[in-house]
Amino acid sequence: MKEITCKKCKFSNDKNASYCQNCGLSLKNKSLKKLIKSFNFNNVAGLGQKGVSIAPLAGMQKVSNLKDNHIKLVKKAHSLEDGTWYCPYCGYRNKTMTYECSNCLKPKP
Ligand SMILES: [Zn+2]
Ligand SMILES: [Zn+2]
Repeated sequence: MKEITCKKCKFSNDKNASYCQNCGLSLKNKSLKKLIKSFNFNNVAGLGQKGVSIAPLAGMQKVSNLKDNHIKLVKKAHSLEDGTWYCPYCGYRNKTMTYECSNCLKPKP
């Protein structure tokens, strides 16, 4: 095959063409795969952040103009409505029935 047929508009392009000369669609699969790969990577990174819960205490301790009750939450275990609690030492989100942090093994305050 000397020519590459555009998948989108069926225009026959030169085999060395990177883009369809008619509609501009990329004809090189490699560049397309690269795009998809980078896109998926970002998605995976986002999902990872969602799965690993990090208490907001790390930022709270650094930011000085926060409300007092937020700072108190940092000093105590940050218990949430669903029963889980944030470890004040490492920020790990623990399940209801644990009495020590599952991540750093320090006792719940
Ligand atoms: Zn085309
Ligand atoms: Zn911990």
